[in-house]
Amino acid sequence: MKAKVTLIEKHQMGGDCLNTGCVPSKALLRSAKFANEMKKAEQLGFKPVTSEVDFAAVMQRIQRVVADIEPHDSVERYTSLGVEVLEGEAKITSPWTVEVNGQRLSTRAIVIATGARPLVPTIPGIELVAPLTSDNVWDLREQPKRLLVLGGGPIGCELAQAFQRLGSAVTQVERNERLLAREDQEASDALMASLRHDGVALRLQHKAVRFEVVDGQRQMICLNLADNREVAIGFDQVLVALGRAANVTGFGAEELQLELRANGTLEVDEYLATRFSNIFAVGDVTGPYQFTHTSAHQAWFAAVNGLFGGFKRFKVDYRVIPWATFTDPEVARVGLNEQDAKAQGTAYEVSHFGIDELDRAIADEAAHGYVKVLTVPGKDRILGVTIVGEHAGDLIAEYVAAMKHGYGLNKVLGTVHIYPTLAEANKAAAGEWKKAHAPQRVLRWLGIFHQWRRGGSQATAAPELTANQKAL
Ligand SMILES: Cc1cc2nc3c(=O)[nH]c(=O)nc-3n(C[C@H](O)[C@H](O)[C@H](O)COP(=O)(O)OP(=O)(O)OC[C@H]3O[C@@H](n4cnc5c(N)ncnc54)[C@H](O)[C@@H]3O)c2cc1C
Repeated sequence: MKAKVTLIEKHQMGGDCLNTGCVPSKALLRSAKFANEMKKAEQLGFKPVTSEVDFAAVMQRIQRVVADIEPHDSVERYTSLGVEVLEGEAKITSPWTVEVNGQRLSTRAIVIATGARPLVPTIPGIELVAPLTSDNVWDLREQPKRLLVLGGGPIGCELAQAFQRLGSAVTQVERNERLLAREDQEASDALMASLRHDGVALRLQHKAVRFEVVDGQRQMICLNLADNREVAIGFDQVLVALGRAANVTGFGAEELQLELRANGTLEVDEYLATRFSNIFAVGDVTGPYQFTHTSAHQAWFAAVNGLFGGFKRFKVDYRVIPWATFTDPEVARVGLNEQDAKAQGTAYEVSHFGIDELDRAIADEAAHGYVKVLTVPGKDRILGVTIVGEHAGDLIAEYVAAMKHGYGLNKVLGTVHIYPTLAEANKAAAGEWKKAHAPQRVLRWLGIFHQWRRGGSQATAAPELTANQKAL
């Protein structure tokens, strides 16, 4: 919008997403998927295939992928777009001034996008076992034989499955009774079954108590919350994936007394402004979602409010926010799921389509998972969708568009989908809704009408086929 913009980055352009988050994790999952595809050789008509993983090469490939994407976020690109990029640590010294490398910049508006970092809890003995996190796991070049993954959220699940499929013996520990606790039980069940099938040892309802090194062997002592007994789990490396803490210190937030929420994120109002109406915050540092696409979504509101807030301010719109966990099966969601709807007391109907019935999924040996749509009772208005299965993160886009633009299941059903595609699962779920809402009175009348046309209650003999019909 032709404003003068300065971007200050103290470490690496692209932030966590490019360097230690989305990009490396998806590249790792791609290699893990290939390892798993090889296991399907016989199913697909090949003699059994075996190949040994070259772990260092897998990790090296990840760096190649990061380097290939890096130009999208580079200093050169942003400079060519007209942004002044300064490399250094920013410090907000007043609501109108920022210091970097001894230089003082004056500004009308500031957007804080300092991100978050892996949360490493102070479990006794943790310093003895050099824990890995999503920050440094990418530096590994030697594959851990036994990997302990602490945490059953999206990052823990993606990395546990990837390492297991690449040949590590993974134990995943989670305090809850199930993984991906934010999703419906059914989604968790599908993922847990897949992880168990891969060989991941799931330790649910286990709480980390302390780490020990006994005779040079690392182990974690956990409390099994089901029977209140301590259990020792041996491992070579531990990966801590217990959530992410907002980066709120070191850049002036304390001095300006910017408010924090109970979970440590920066407090902002519905316009994404902090307690200063010209200092905004977006992304992981403020949440409530910690995804790249939600950070980008917020960025639009912060930028527009920062530039034109004196005339008009826009409230950030969180009505239709999708996300996905890129495990196999992928788990994608937009809007409400059943557990949220129940917690909020929102009435809903469920339309459920099993992807095991879908032609393309059967042909692809991917006949598992489901599309579950919650609608307003008696109406086709969509409240939320969960998709579990291959490419769920892509498939859900159709429902995201439907919710965003306010059209319902009748329109999804009335849209021509290419046969045979996985996307037909979306239409089939809408079809399930339609079947459940078929106009029974009209159908009864149609039955009577057709019977009348056939000549009353007695069935009439089928007419002779013409030569043409016989040839066909
Ligand atoms: C393993 C993993 C997998 C993930 N997978 C996905 C995924 O598949 N999809 C998805 O949507 N999200 C994913 N995420 C989350 C995603 O990475 C974050 O939501 C996203 O990076 C947040 O962007 P951000 O700009 O808020 O912060 P960041 O990307 O963390 O960027 C913050 C930047 O600010 C810089 N900075 C901090 N303080 C200062 C300062 N004082 N001066 C100058 N610079 C400073 C930092 O160096 C950093 O580069 C994943 C995260 C992880 C860890």
